Amino acid sequence: MELFHISAECYPVAKVGGLADVVGALPKYQNQLGHNAKVVVPGYDNKFTNENAFEKVHHGQLRLGSFIFSYSVLREKTNKLGFELYLIAIPDLFDRPNVYSYEDDTERFTAFQIAFLNWLTETGQKPDLIHCHDHHTGLIPFMVSHCYNYQNLKATPTVLTIHNGQYQGWFGFDKLSYIPDFNRLMLGFIEWNGIINPLASAIKCAWKITTVSPSYLAYFSYDANGLENLLRYERPKSVGILNGIDTEVWNPATDPMLEFHYKLKDFKAGKAKNKKFLCEQFNLDPSKPLFTFIGRLVGEKGADLLPQICSVALNNNPREINIFILGSGDPGVEGALQSLQNFYHGNYNAYIGYNEKLAHAVYAGADFLLMPSRVEPCGLNQMYALRYGTVPIVRRTGGLKDTVLDIGDGGFGICHDNTSVFDVNHSVTRGIDLFNDTAKFDSVRKTAMQIDHSWDKAAQNYITLYESITH
Ligand code: ADP
Repeated sequence: MELFHISAECYPVAKVGGLADVVGALPKYQNQLGHNAKVVVPGYDNKFTNENAFEKVHHGQLRLGSFIFSYSVLREKTNKLGFELYLIAIPDLFDRPNVYSYEDDTERFTAFQIAFLNWLTETGQKPDLIHCHDHHTGLIPFMVSHCYNYQNLKATPTVLTIHNGQYQGWFGFDKLSYIPDFNRLMLGFIEWNGIINPLASAIKCAWKITTVSPSYLAYFSYDANGLENLLRYERPKSVGILNGIDTEVWNPATDPMLEFHYKLKDFKAGKAKNKKFLCEQFNLDPSKPLFTFIGRLVGEKGADLLPQICSVALNNNPREINIFILGSGDPGVEGALQSLQNFYHGNYNAYIGYNEKLAHAVYAGADFLLMPSRVEPCGLNQMYALRYGTVPIVRRTGGLKDTVLDIGDGGFGICHDNTSVFDVNHSVTRGIDLFNDTAKFDSVRKTAMQIDHSWDKAAQNYITLYESITH
């Protein structure tokens, strides 16, 4: 089967969070199953674009309302990522370093989607399927079905995967002219609650909807940032498919970002060396249990509670534990986490920013990974932690519920029900007890490392889903 994944992110091309990891891995595993999955992302002005070789395969000029823009389609020459990678370069809109958070994101991602469809139609390509990821590509199912310019793609099935339904890409009807001409009777397919909503549009128009875990699909039907009724209505065409992890990238035995490699048989010594290395860098004591957090410092991740979680844990267990935080996001939370360094010197540290290499070092060197998320569509961090022998401490929600079983139930993680300082600290106490019971701690970590969250099964689940609409 020949298909395109279209997305704002793809690891290692451009990454903000888990979306990139999925789009960088799923196509590779689908290709290993004998398919031809290609990836299309915007051409950002970043390290990957500047350090790799591309050939221009198409060039065109288009209109976005009254704004005329030109675009080029660039193909990465080597296919070294395990799939054909195409960048759509649009001067003035995408030749910038960051993926999101510009005030013209509506213009940027609408232009990106139009350029993609224009490239397909002008070059006469008819893929078996187009797989859209999140709201940045959410107008494609509508445009394929209803825009006059793309009638030759009308029969092409589209799939939408919702990685994060909190963000929907809303914009006003003053920008309706950005969308190429379509039958105005179909206007209802792009709006929700009186505003243009690309995610809602994709939920209405895509042939199939997937969420990145089964529990998130159930959760989404009663908390979807305004889309609950729509989700419930479209439930028959929706399915939750748990994400996998790229076990070639995330492998403690070969990970080039680690100082010390380790396997199941020598995990104890390997983790101890990585922990010592990490603790030396951040002035922490490797003899004490190391609790960590990696992620976006936003409410969804429960990050607003982190400063209090840390201070209560450090006060309750004076000089008994270490905490290390890696993240960026809400400036208020960043500041509060940084200022804790003044109070708990030697037991606490934080790196505010995005650092891929450090994230790998933390998964390898930590004893515990905290995930007090309010909303977690799937969550990859807990799966990376398990693979690296780090015990996840999670709130039972979304994908965390689907992937982490509590040690009290014979599992390999520590779970609580509420995103509250109290619940997380109760789990920290259980973590300290586990750490002090060396035999049990080792056996839990060994079990964790052997859990198979590779993409093989999930990649096949997607193919089965595609086949249900392409045959
Ligand atoms: P989300 O996509 O909601 O942010 P996921 O758990 O699905 O959450 O994926 C997060 C990904 O981003 C993981 O690969 C994690 O290691 C990475 N990550 C998040 N924040 C940082 C950071 N500050 N530095 C390095 N990696 C980070």
